[in-house]
Parts: sequence; structure tokens; C-alpha cells
Amino acid sequence: MARETDAEIAEITIQLKEHLRFYREIGVTDIGGGAAKATGEPHEEAATPAIEVDYSAPDSIHPQRKATMPDESSRGLEFNLFGEPITPAPGPKSGRHVAATQTPCDLSLEVIREDIGDCTRCKLSEHRTNIVFGEGNPHARLVFVGEAPGADEDATGRPFVGRAGQLLDKIIASIGLRREDVYIANVVKCRPPQNRTPEKDETSTCEPFLFRQLRFINPSVIVTLGLPAFQTLCRTRESMSRARGQWRDWNGVKVMPTFHPAYLLRDPTKKREVWEDIRKVRDYLAKEKLL
Ligand code: URA
Repeated sequence: MARETDAEIAEITIQLKEHLRFYREIGVTDIGGGAAKATGEPHEEAATPAIEVDYSAPDSIHPQRKATMPDESSRGLEFNLFGEPITPAPGPKSGRHVAATQTPCDLSLEVIREDIGDCTRCKLSEHRTNIVFGEGNPHARLVFVGEAPGADEDATGRPFVGRAGQLLDKIIASIGLRREDVYIANVVKCRPPQNRTPEKDETSTCEPFLFRQLRFINPSVIVTLGLPAFQTLCRTRESMSRARGQWRDWNGVKVMPTFHPAYLLRDPTKKREVWEDIRKVRDYLAKEKLL
């Protein structure tokens, strides 16, 4: 019996070491319990030569990381984008709540969608295939707001379904939620040519529909993805480097600005910052018993 216990402790120790090494490799410096401090500096275990990896490739995994990742199937554990074991959330709380100071919008999402119709209010309508209205739980506690649809979203009429969307799904899973638990929308609902940033007139024409959606959903937290979404919602010229990770406000609803997933695809080292931001969201929702 005592020998079995020793074996279990040895196994747990191996697992813990694997986890900590994995965190270091993805650049997580703080996992909330004072463990795994990674500085980006070489550490004593990292005496192996650097390996070139194309992180822009879909689902690319650093070879060292792959080798040291815990075996999910055998341990029955799942790991989030940031390498932390996922604790399944009980699912979002159902029913409306009145936490924010804004006036809820009585128009349902269906009515707002009908109002948009086959929109030709701005020049983005000229090249679009589909209007990308937004989707998800109409009573979500957590809403993600992006900038504008890209090619995949334009083709399907659904927000964040391309590579950036797959990364967003992982970000959502990192706090134990599923895509269908949250609501996902964009500042403008039609794809700008060549994915350029929406122009001022396009944003000002389209944003009232987003605001009406947000007032109907009445979430507890809005995560803005990228600078245009943040600046539009918070009516600010503040930079992302200053604002990210800091709570802001939209009509009494807490706003967490963070980097756009497309930016993470270009620069995976920024995942660490997004993890810090998203952890604040998770901690707030958990504190308010909304997770
Ligand atoms: N980028 C966005 O900002 N929104 C999408 O829906 C897809 C990519």
C-alpha cells in the first residue's frame, strides 16, 4: 500500500514537472499559484538548441512542447490554449440579469437583424457576400467583439470562423466555456475590401446595431479584440499597449481590451498577455458566480 502511494506521488511529480515545463515553453509566467516563473531567459533545463517552428501554420506545436505535453487521452485531462488543465464550467447561468447600469434594449436580436435587412447603408455592402450579424447565446454573460468579418466570415455569414476564429474558440475554452455559451459579434457587419480597417463612416453607420445587440444581451463582461473594437466601444484614442488588461467601461458593462487573435497568429509571443487578460475575465466571472 505504502509502495503504491510512493508510486502515485512519483507519477504526480512527473506530471507536475511536465505541466510546468509546458507553461514555460508557451511563455506563461504566472499560473495563479506562484508556480512556473518563466522569464524568456534560458533556464537550466533548456540546454537543447533552439528549433525553428512556423507558428503561423495551423495547429503548429513546438516539437519540444509536443514531446513534453502531457498525454491527454491517458490522463483524461484537457488543456487550454495556454497549457492549463481545463476545469469544465457548469455552463453559463441562464436567465436575464440586471447587473449593469445601462438600459436594456427591448428589441430582440431577431428584430435588430430584421432592421438591418439587406443593408446598403454604407459602401461595404457593395462587395460583401453575407452580412455577419453575430451569433451565440442571446443571454451570454460574456461577449467578444471583433473588428469586421474576413473572407471566411463573409463566405459563411458567421463571425470568427477562420483561423483567427479557431484561436478565439481556444481562448474561450481556456476559461472552461464553449463558443455557444458566449456571444460573438463585430463592430461592422460586412467585410471591408482586402480586410482593411473599417473607415469612420462605415463604423458610425454600423455601430448602432452592435450597441443595440449589446443592450439586448446585457452581458457582464465584453472582451474587445483588437484596437478598433476597443476604441469604438470605449470612445477613446487610447493605445492597446496602454489599455490591454485594464478594465474599462461600456455603459456600465465591464470591458476588457485585449489583442486580436489574428495578431496572436502573427506574433504568438503575445499569447501570454492575452492569457493574463482573459484570466482577469475568468476571475471576475467566477467571483460573481457567473461561470
Ligand atoms: N476578425 C474579426 O475581427 N472578426 C471576424 O469575425 C473575423 C476575423
